[in-house]
Amino acid sequence: MVKEFNAFEMAQRQFDAVADKLQLDAGIRDLLRWPQREYHFTIPVRMDDGSVKVFRGFRVQHNDARGPAKGGIRFHPQETVDTVRALATWMTWKCAVVDIPLGGGKGGVICDPHHLSPREQEAVCRGWVRQVARNIGPLQDVPAPDVMTNPQHMVWMLDEYEKIAGGHFPGVITGKPVEVGGSLGRTEATGYGVIYTVREALKRKKIKVEGVKASIQGFGNVAQYAAKLLIELGGSVVAVSCWDNDDRAAYTYAKADGIDADFLLSITDRFGTIDKDKAVKAGYKIEGGDDWIAKDVQVLIPAAIENQVTAETVKRVHRNVKIIAEGANGPTTPEADAVLKERGVYVIPDFLANAGGVTCSYFEQVQCNTNFFWPKVEVLQRLDQKMTSAFNAVADLADDAGEYMRDAAYMIAIQRVATACHLRGWA
Ligand code: NAD
Repeated sequence: MVKEFNAFEMAQRQFDAVADKLQLDAGIRDLLRWPQREYHFTIPVRMDDGSVKVFRGFRVQHNDARGPAKGGIRFHPQETVDTVRALATWMTWKCAVVDIPLGGGKGGVICDPHHLSPREQEAVCRGWVRQVARNIGPLQDVPAPDVMTNPQHMVWMLDEYEKIAGGHFPGVITGKPVEVGGSLGRTEATGYGVIYTVREALKRKKIKVEGVKASIQGFGNVAQYAAKLLIELGGSVVAVSCWDNDDRAAYTYAKADGIDADFLLSITDRFGTIDKDKAVKAGYKIEGGDDWIAKDVQVLIPAAIENQVTAETVKRVHRNVKIIAEGANGPTTPEADAVLKERGVYVIPDFLANAGGVTCSYFEQVQCNTNFFWPKVEVLQRLDQKMTSAFNAVADLADDAGEYMRDAAYMIAIQRVATACHLRGWA
């Protein structure tokens, strides 16, 4: 029988490999391989038809040695506690690699919000908070939106928490609308963050950003803002791609002299799908879904979904590609990663390249906790500083120790968390 993929086992294996490199001792390994705390609970909801449905919910706090746990809440029909554990572990490393004073957490509810009315969704959100209100908080654990949860869900959760806690605690949850304590700049943060790291990588490769060419997979939140900023810095994007739900297929939208990001945005829906007919009329070439990866560019940015740079597609990566910045989570399979390593492609790993989002969430938390909100330009300036210094710390280690960027990023993150645990006397 084929063994089912288990994300948490994979997260533990990744950790073990880095722990070997860092020669961590047995106590700290045992501590960091497992979540510190988990809450499993039921959420009874009175449905619109009068019946009661009981949903299963989780919150996992992987490690909070460096600060309150941080991580999203997913609503997904196939949610499993092992997926939530893995994602919580990866959040610990992501917060550590960008050096923000937060740990790692993740939550979930087994449900499909598409089949719930807004009132039922509100009841799930409020029920989730009632079960963990004592275990989350601005100084304990700070949830955020994730797969199939959105800013409205976060406001319902905040409201329920504040009712229970008896006061205003906007720093308990991030990803809120700006009107209720959200941060300016959050929409741009992840895509811009990707490009801040690309800009720094280009400097190391002695390639001028002016005139650099990139090809991007996806045209959703991350890809759109990555494209916009790269173009603003003087580069061009010769292709983007997206999923077309009507055709149940992906397409690449190519323009040899560079896309006009604002125009493409004007013909893109809120799910990141570009209108094919309007694109063709404007001179875009429509190509196969995987063709974005074969472009003669210096920079590739997979910013759509996981498992896209595979043993097969990696063969099509053009010899001129110098940098791959992983905007998406887990876009590269281990087999393709080995090929890129061998070919000497400079890969900026996902948990570093796309950490702009969580960094901005941290800024949201800081602004909420101090009840003082920054203008957008200040948010983006601080984001640039954080991403730039995080990138340079990893790139320095990679250069000095001759490590692959992904390995260097894990080494820095895990060492930081291990040190915090040691200093606290935990292991
Ligand atoms: P999104 O839903 O806004 O956009 C996804 C885009 O990918 C859409 O354009 C969609 O059409 C396209 N797409 C989907 N399947 C595709 C396929 N097979 N081929 C080509 N294109 C395809 O999502 P997003 O927020 O931009 O997130 C993209 C990735 O970045 C995800 O892996 C997400 O986990 C990761 N990420 C996002 C954030 C964030 O702040 N938004 C932060 C960290 C990581």
